[in-house]
Amino acid sequence: NISRLLAKRASKFVLSCRFNSTLTLIETTGPNVTPASLSTLTAAVKVGNPITALLLGPESEVAGKQIAAVEGVDKILISKSDKYAHLLPEEVSPLVASILKSSDYTNFFVPASTAGKGILPRVGALLDVQPLSEITKVVSPDTFVRPTYAGNAILTVKCKDKVKLASVRSSAFDPIERKSEKIADIKEISYVESGNKTQYVSEQLIKSERPELDSAKIVVSGGRGLKDKEHFDQLLYPLADKLHAALGASRAAVDADFCDNSLQVGQTGKVVAPNLYLAVGISGAIQHLAGMKDSKVIVAINKDEEAPIFKIADVGMVGDLFKIVPELTEKL
Ligand code: FAD
Repeated sequence: NISRLLAKRASKFVLSCRFNSTLTLIETTGPNVTPASLSTLTAAVKVGNPITALLLGPESEVAGKQIAAVEGVDKILISKSDKYAHLLPEEVSPLVASILKSSDYTNFFVPASTAGKGILPRVGALLDVQPLSEITKVVSPDTFVRPTYAGNAILTVKCKDKVKLASVRSSAFDPIERKSEKIADIKEISYVESGNKTQYVSEQLIKSERPELDSAKIVVSGGRGLKDKEHFDQLLYPLADKLHAALGASRAAVDADFCDNSLQVGQTGKVVAPNLYLAVGISGAIQHLAGMKDSKVIVAINKDEEAPIFKIADVGMVGDLFKIVPELTEKL
Protein backbone atom coordinates (compact mmCIF):
# COMPACT_ATOMS: atom_id res chain seq x y z
CA ASN A 1 0.00 0.00 0.00
CA ILE A 2 2.82 2.38 0.91
CA SER A 3 4.61 1.74 -2.37
CA ARG A 4 1.34 2.34 -4.30
CA LEU A 5 0.85 5.60 -2.40
CA LEU A 6 4.41 6.69 -3.15
CA ALA A 7 4.00 5.83 -6.84
CA LYS A 8 0.74 7.84 -6.96
CA ARG A 9 2.43 10.85 -5.30
CA ALA A 10 5.38 10.59 -7.69
CA SER A 11 3.10 10.55 -10.74
CA LYS A 12 1.20 13.56 -9.34
CA PHE A 13 4.56 15.33 -8.91
CA VAL A 14 5.57 14.55 -12.50
CA LEU A 15 2.21 15.84 -13.75
CA SER A 16 2.56 19.08 -11.83
CA CYS A 17 6.17 19.63 -13.00
CA ARG A 18 6.09 21.21 -16.42
CA PHE A 19 9.14 20.59 -18.58
CA ASN A 20 10.63 24.04 -19.12
CA SER A 21 10.22 25.05 -22.74
CA THR A 22 9.30 28.21 -24.63
CA LEU A 23 6.93 28.53 -27.56
CA THR A 24 7.79 31.61 -29.67
CA LEU A 25 5.59 33.01 -32.41
CA ILE A 26 7.74 34.10 -35.34
CA GLU A 27 6.39 36.72 -37.73
CA THR A 28 7.37 36.85 -41.36
CA THR A 29 7.15 39.29 -44.22
CA GLY A 30 6.79 37.00 -47.22
CA PRO A 31 9.41 34.30 -46.80
CA ASN A 32 11.57 36.38 -44.43
CA VAL A 33 11.63 36.36 -40.64
CA THR A 34 11.09 39.89 -39.24
CA PRO A 35 13.88 41.56 -37.20
CA ALA A 36 11.41 41.89 -34.29
CA SER A 37 11.00 38.09 -34.28
CA LEU A 38 14.78 37.64 -34.14
CA SER A 39 14.83 39.94 -31.09
CA THR A 40 12.03 37.87 -29.56
CA LEU A 41 14.20 34.77 -30.01
CA THR A 42 17.01 36.53 -28.11
CA ALA A 43 14.58 37.08 -25.22
CA ALA A 44 13.47 33.43 -25.44
CA VAL A 45 17.11 32.24 -25.29
CA LYS A 46 17.54 34.26 -22.07
CA VAL A 47 14.76 32.19 -20.47
CA GLY A 48 17.13 29.28 -20.96
CA ASN A 49 14.60 26.72 -22.17
CA PRO A 50 14.59 24.78 -25.41
CA ILE A 51 12.64 26.88 -27.90
CA THR A 52 9.90 25.83 -30.26
CA ALA A 53 9.36 28.38 -33.03
CA LEU A 54 5.85 28.66 -34.48
CA LEU A 55 5.57 29.99 -38.03
CA LEU A 56 2.29 30.43 -39.83
CA GLY A 57 1.06 30.96 -43.37
CA PRO A 58 1.82 29.60 -46.85
CA GLU A 59 5.49 30.62 -46.73
CA SER A 60 6.13 29.39 -43.21
CA GLU A 61 8.28 26.44 -44.30
CA VAL A 62 10.71 28.61 -46.31
CA ALA A 63 10.91 31.12 -43.44
CA GLY A 64 11.28 28.29 -40.91
CA LYS A 65 14.42 27.05 -42.66
CA GLN A 66 16.04 30.45 -42.01
CA ILE A 67 15.89 29.92 -38.27
CA ALA A 68 16.39 26.16 -38.16
CA ALA A 69 20.05 26.60 -37.21
CA VAL A 70 19.56 29.48 -34.77
CA GLU A 71 20.93 29.01 -31.27
CA GLY A 72 18.36 27.57 -28.87
CA VAL A 73 15.72 26.70 -31.49
CA ASP A 74 14.94 23.08 -30.80
CA LYS A 75 11.85 22.49 -32.87
CA ILE A 76 9.89 24.35 -35.54
CA LEU A 77 6.12 24.08 -35.93
CA ILE A 78 4.57 25.35 -39.14
CA SER A 79 1.07 25.56 -40.53
CA LYS A 80 0.80 26.51 -44.17
CA SER A 81 -2.94 27.17 -44.05
CA ASP A 82 -4.06 30.26 -46.01
CA LYS A 83 -6.16 31.19 -43.00
CA TYR A 84 -2.94 32.14 -41.19
CA ALA A 85 -1.53 34.19 -44.10
CA HIS A 86 -2.19 37.56 -42.43
CA LEU A 87 -1.82 36.55 -38.79
CA LEU A 88 -5.38 37.56 -37.94
CA PRO A 89 -5.44 37.44 -34.13
CA GLU A 90 -8.91 35.81 -34.26
CA GLU A 91 -7.41 32.90 -36.26
CA VAL A 92 -4.03 32.60 -34.58
CA SER A 93 -5.12 32.80 -30.93
CA PRO A 94 -7.23 29.59 -30.86
CA LEU A 95 -4.32 27.71 -32.49
CA VAL A 96 -1.79 29.00 -29.95
CA ALA A 97 -4.17 28.33 -27.05
CA SER A 98 -4.73 24.77 -28.26
CA ILE A 99 -0.97 24.13 -28.55
CA LEU A 100 -0.37 25.53 -25.07
CA LYS A 101 -3.26 23.51 -23.58
CA SER A 102 -2.12 20.23 -25.06
CA SER A 103 1.61 20.50 -24.28
CA ASP A 104 4.03 21.42 -21.54
CA TYR A 105 5.27 24.83 -22.59
CA THR A 106 6.08 27.04 -19.62
CA ASN A 107 6.55 30.27 -21.61
CA PHE A 108 4.97 31.79 -24.70
CA PHE A 109 6.57 34.83 -26.37
CA VAL A 110 5.37 37.03 -29.24
CA PRO A 111 6.97 40.16 -30.70
CA ALA A 112 5.19 43.30 -29.39
CA SER A 113 4.15 44.10 -32.96
CA THR A 114 0.67 45.03 -34.17
CA ALA A 115 -0.16 41.35 -34.70
CA GLY A 116 1.48 40.30 -31.42
CA LYS A 117 -0.45 42.94 -29.48
CA GLY A 118 -3.69 41.49 -30.88
CA ILE A 119 -2.80 37.85 -30.34
CA LEU A 120 -1.38 37.94 -26.79
CA PRO A 121 -4.46 39.17 -24.85
CA ARG A 122 -6.72 36.79 -26.77
CA VAL A 123 -4.51 33.83 -25.87
CA GLY A 124 -4.52 35.11 -22.28
CA ALA A 125 -8.31 35.17 -22.25
CA LEU A 126 -8.60 31.69 -23.78
CA LEU A 127 -6.23 30.25 -21.15
CA ASP A 128 -7.43 32.48 -18.30
CA VAL A 129 -3.87 33.72 -17.77
CA GLN A 130 -2.62 37.28 -17.25
CA PRO A 131 -0.25 38.21 -20.10
CA LEU A 132 2.71 40.56 -19.64
CA SER A 133 3.06 43.18 -22.33
CA GLU A 134 6.31 44.57 -23.74
CA ILE A 135 8.89 42.93 -21.52
CA THR A 136 12.30 44.60 -21.77
CA LYS A 137 14.34 42.15 -19.69
CA VAL A 138 14.23 38.48 -18.72
CA VAL A 139 15.39 38.10 -15.13
CA SER A 140 14.53 34.39 -14.85
CA PRO A 141 12.01 32.04 -16.52
CA ASP A 142 9.21 33.47 -14.37
CA THR A 143 10.42 37.03 -13.67
CA PHE A 144 10.44 39.84 -16.20
CA VAL A 145 10.98 43.60 -16.37
CA ARG A 146 8.47 45.78 -18.19
CA PRO A 147 7.75 49.51 -18.36
CA THR A 148 4.45 50.97 -17.17
CA TYR A 149 2.88 54.47 -17.07
CA ALA A 150 4.33 55.25 -20.50
CA GLY A 151 7.80 54.20 -19.41
CA ASN A 152 7.82 56.38 -16.27
CA ALA A 153 7.96 53.39 -13.95
CA ILE A 154 9.73 50.08 -14.43
CA LEU A 155 8.13 46.97 -12.96
CA THR A 156 9.81 43.69 -12.13
CA VAL A 157 7.05 41.09 -12.28
CA LYS A 158 7.14 37.53 -11.01
CA CYS A 159 4.56 35.44 -12.79
CA LYS A 160 2.98 32.46 -11.06
CA ASP A 161 0.87 31.21 -13.96
CA LYS A 162 1.69 27.77 -15.34
CA VAL A 163 2.28 29.29 -18.75
CA LYS A 164 3.90 32.70 -18.76
CA LEU A 165 2.63 34.77 -21.70
CA ALA A 166 4.64 37.80 -22.77
CA SER A 167 5.12 40.15 -25.68
CA VAL A 168 8.71 41.26 -26.24
CA ARG A 169 9.76 44.84 -26.96
CA SER A 170 12.14 44.37 -29.86
CA SER A 171 14.16 47.53 -29.19
CA ALA A 172 15.27 46.05 -25.84
CA PHE A 173 16.85 42.88 -27.34
CA ASP A 174 19.33 42.58 -30.21
CA PRO A 175 18.27 40.29 -33.06
CA ILE A 176 19.63 36.78 -32.49
CA GLU A 177 22.68 35.94 -34.59
CA ARG A 178 24.36 32.94 -33.02
CA LYS A 179 24.07 29.71 -34.93
CA SER A 180 24.19 26.23 -33.50
CA GLU A 181 25.45 22.99 -35.02
CA LYS A 182 22.04 21.43 -34.63
CA ILE A 183 19.37 21.92 -37.29
CA ALA A 184 15.88 21.99 -35.77
CA ASP A 185 13.24 19.62 -37.14
CA ILE A 186 10.30 21.19 -38.94
CA LYS A 187 6.91 19.68 -38.13
CA GLU A 188 3.68 20.60 -39.88
CA ILE A 189 0.57 21.11 -37.75
CA SER A 190 -3.03 21.41 -38.86
CA TYR A 191 -5.38 24.37 -38.91
CA VAL A 192 -7.40 24.74 -35.73
CA GLU A 193 -11.06 25.68 -36.25
CA SER A 194 -11.55 29.17 -34.80
CA GLY A 195 -15.17 30.11 -35.46
CA ASN A 196 -13.69 33.41 -36.64
CA LYS A 197 -16.04 35.84 -38.36
CA THR A 198 -13.35 38.40 -39.25
CA GLN A 199 -12.02 38.41 -42.77
CA TYR A 200 -8.85 39.89 -44.21
CA VAL A 201 -9.81 42.36 -46.95
CA SER A 202 -6.74 44.39 -47.90
CA GLU A 203 -3.86 46.40 -46.55
CA GLN A 204 -2.10 49.54 -47.68
CA LEU A 205 1.59 49.55 -46.97
CA ILE A 206 3.82 52.59 -47.16
CA LYS A 207 6.71 51.47 -49.36
CA SER A 208 10.02 53.03 -48.49
CA GLU A 209 13.64 52.49 -49.39
CA ARG A 210 14.60 53.69 -45.92
CA PRO A 211 15.37 51.42 -42.98
CA GLU A 212 12.33 50.40 -40.87
CA LEU A 213 11.71 52.87 -38.06
CA ASP A 214 11.48 50.08 -35.44
CA SER A 215 14.83 48.55 -36.28
CA ALA A 216 16.90 51.43 -37.76
CA LYS A 217 20.29 52.19 -36.22
CA ILE A 218 19.81 55.94 -36.81
CA VAL A 219 16.52 57.86 -36.62
CA VAL A 220 15.96 61.48 -37.65
CA SER A 221 12.72 62.77 -36.12
CA GLY A 222 10.89 66.02 -36.76
CA GLY A 223 8.38 67.95 -34.66
CA ARG A 224 6.05 70.92 -34.82
CA GLY A 225 9.08 73.21 -34.97
CA LEU A 226 9.41 72.35 -38.68
CA LYS A 227 6.24 74.41 -39.25
CA ASP A 228 4.77 72.55 -42.25
CA LYS A 229 5.00 69.50 -44.52
CA GLU A 230 7.18 71.28 -47.10
CA HIS A 231 9.85 72.08 -44.53
CA PHE A 232 9.58 68.60 -43.01
CA ASP A 233 10.22 67.05 -46.44
CA GLN A 234 12.85 69.53 -47.64
CA LEU A 235 14.91 69.55 -44.45
CA LEU A 236 14.59 66.07 -42.97
CA TYR A 237 14.70 63.79 -46.02
CA PRO A 238 18.15 65.01 -47.23
CA LEU A 239 19.51 64.77 -43.67
CA ALA A 240 18.10 61.25 -43.24
CA ASP A 241 19.54 60.27 -46.66
CA LYS A 242 23.04 61.40 -45.62
CA LEU A 243 22.84 59.39 -42.41
CA HIS A 244 21.06 56.34 -43.95
CA ALA A 245 18.49 56.93 -41.25
CA ALA A 246 14.82 56.13 -40.77
CA LEU A 247 12.45 59.06 -40.41
CA GLY A 248 10.37 59.61 -37.29
CA ALA A 249 8.04 62.31 -36.02
CA SER A 250 6.29 63.68 -32.96
CA ARG A 251 2.54 63.34 -32.67
CA ALA A 252 2.15 67.09 -33.21
CA ALA A 253 3.92 66.71 -36.57
CA VAL A 254 1.71 63.75 -37.50
CA ASP A 255 -1.49 65.54 -36.40
CA ALA A 256 -0.52 68.55 -38.48
CA ASP A 257 -0.11 66.24 -41.52
CA PHE A 258 3.63 66.86 -41.95
CA CYS A 259 3.98 63.10 -42.48
CA ASP A 260 2.25 59.73 -42.27
CA ASN A 261 1.23 58.44 -38.83
CA SER A 262 3.37 55.32 -39.29
CA LEU A 263 6.29 57.63 -38.43
CA GLN A 264 4.99 58.60 -34.99
CA VAL A 265 7.37 57.90 -32.13
CA GLY A 266 6.10 57.79 -28.55
CA GLN A 267 3.58 56.43 -26.13
CA THR A 268 0.91 56.03 -28.81
CA GLY A 269 3.39 55.52 -31.64
CA LYS A 270 6.47 53.37 -32.10
CA VAL A 271 9.08 52.67 -29.45
CA VAL A 272 12.61 52.92 -30.81
CA ALA A 273 16.08 52.59 -29.32
CA PRO A 274 18.54 53.34 -32.15
CA ASN A 275 22.24 54.07 -31.72
CA LEU A 276 21.53 57.69 -32.68
CA TYR A 277 18.25 59.63 -32.34
CA LEU A 278 18.19 63.12 -33.78
CA ALA A 279 15.23 65.19 -32.53
CA VAL A 280 14.61 68.26 -34.68
CA GLY A 281 12.13 70.89 -33.44
CA ILE A 282 10.69 68.49 -30.84
CA SER A 283 10.02 69.85 -27.33
CA GLY A 284 10.41 66.49 -25.54
CA ALA A 285 6.93 65.93 -24.09
CA ILE A 286 6.77 62.95 -21.76
CA GLN A 287 4.67 60.99 -24.28
CA HIS A 288 7.35 61.48 -26.94
CA LEU A 289 10.17 60.52 -24.57
CA ALA A 290 8.33 57.25 -23.83
CA GLY A 291 9.13 56.19 -27.37
CA MET A 292 12.79 57.18 -27.69
CA LYS A 293 14.48 57.75 -24.34
CA ASP A 294 16.34 54.43 -24.50
CA SER A 295 18.22 55.53 -27.62
CA LYS A 296 21.99 55.19 -27.14
CA VAL A 297 22.87 58.77 -28.18
CA ILE A 298 20.25 61.53 -28.35
CA VAL A 299 20.93 64.74 -30.26
CA ALA A 300 18.41 67.58 -30.02
CA ILE A 301 18.09 70.73 -32.11
CA ASN A 302 15.77 73.31 -30.57
CA LYS A 303 15.71 77.09 -30.35
CA ASP A 304 14.40 77.02 -26.78
CA GLU A 305 17.23 76.18 -24.39
CA GLU A 306 14.64 75.34 -21.71
CA ALA A 307 13.00 72.65 -23.89
CA PRO A 308 12.62 69.39 -21.87
CA ILE A 309 14.31 67.37 -24.63
CA PHE A 310 17.65 68.86 -23.51
CA LYS A 311 17.27 67.10 -20.14
CA ILE A 312 17.78 63.72 -21.79
CA ALA A 313 19.88 64.78 -24.79
CA ASP A 314 23.55 63.77 -24.93
CA VAL A 315 24.22 66.55 -27.42
CA GLY A 316 22.08 69.68 -27.55
CA MET A 317 22.21 72.35 -30.22
CA VAL A 318 20.35 75.52 -29.25
CA GLY A 319 19.43 77.44 -32.35
CA ASP A 320 17.20 77.83 -35.37
CA LEU A 321 16.68 74.48 -37.07
CA PHE A 322 16.08 76.20 -40.41
CA LYS A 323 19.76 77.26 -40.32
CA ILE A 324 21.30 74.33 -38.46
CA VAL A 325 19.75 71.43 -40.44
CA PRO A 326 20.83 72.57 -43.96
CA GLU A 327 24.32 73.33 -42.62
CA LEU A 328 24.56 69.94 -40.92
CA THR A 329 23.36 68.15 -44.05
CA GLU A 330 25.89 69.99 -46.18
CA LYS A 331 28.75 69.23 -43.80
CA LEU A 332 27.79 65.55 -43.65
P1 FAD B 1 5.82 71.11 -29.49
O1 FAD B 1 5.66 70.66 -28.10
O2 FAD B 1 4.97 72.24 -29.96
O3 FAD B 1 7.36 71.51 -29.66
C1 FAD B 1 7.87 72.12 -30.79
C2 FAD B 1 9.31 72.50 -30.46
O4 FAD B 1 9.92 73.05 -31.60
C3 FAD B 1 9.43 73.54 -29.35
O5 FAD B 1 10.25 73.04 -28.30
C4 FAD B 1 10.06 74.75 -30.01
O6 FAD B 1 10.98 75.44 -29.16
C5 FAD B 1 10.78 74.10 -31.17
N1 FAD B 1 10.97 75.03 -32.31
C6 FAD B 1 10.05 75.81 -32.90
N2 FAD B 1 10.59 76.50 -33.93
C7 FAD B 1 11.92 76.14 -33.97
C8 FAD B 1 13.01 76.52 -34.78
N3 FAD B 1 12.86 77.39 -35.80
N4 FAD B 1 14.21 75.97 -34.55
C9 FAD B 1 14.39 75.07 -33.52
N5 FAD B 1 13.38 74.68 -32.71
C10 FAD B 1 12.15 75.20 -32.94
N6 FAD B 1 3.48 62.90 -28.67
C11 FAD B 1 4.37 62.18 -29.36
O7 FAD B 1 5.33 62.72 -29.92
N7 FAD B 1 4.22 60.81 -29.46
C12 FAD B 1 3.20 60.15 -28.87
O8 FAD B 1 3.12 58.93 -29.01
C13 FAD B 1 2.26 60.90 -28.11
N8 FAD B 1 1.24 60.26 -27.48
C14 FAD B 1 0.40 61.02 -26.72
C15 FAD B 1 -0.61 60.38 -25.98
C16 FAD B 1 -1.44 61.11 -25.18
C17 FAD B 1 -2.49 60.39 -24.39
C18 FAD B 1 -1.32 62.51 -25.11
C19 FAD B 1 -2.23 63.32 -24.23
C20 FAD B 1 -0.36 63.17 -25.84
C21 FAD B 1 0.52 62.43 -26.67
N9 FAD B 1 1.51 63.06 -27.40
C22 FAD B 1 2.42 62.31 -28.06
C23 FAD B 1 1.57 64.53 -27.55
C24 FAD B 1 2.59 65.19 -26.67
O9 FAD B 1 2.01 65.50 -25.43
C25 FAD B 1 3.08 66.52 -27.31
O10 FAD B 1 1.97 67.34 -27.57
C26 FAD B 1 3.85 66.34 -28.60
O11 FAD B 1 4.87 65.37 -28.44
C27 FAD B 1 4.48 67.66 -29.00
O12 FAD B 1 5.13 67.54 -30.24
P2 FAD B 1 6.31 68.52 -30.63
O13 FAD B 1 7.43 68.38 -29.66
O14 FAD B 1 6.59 68.30 -32.07
O15 FAD B 1 5.61 69.96 -30.52
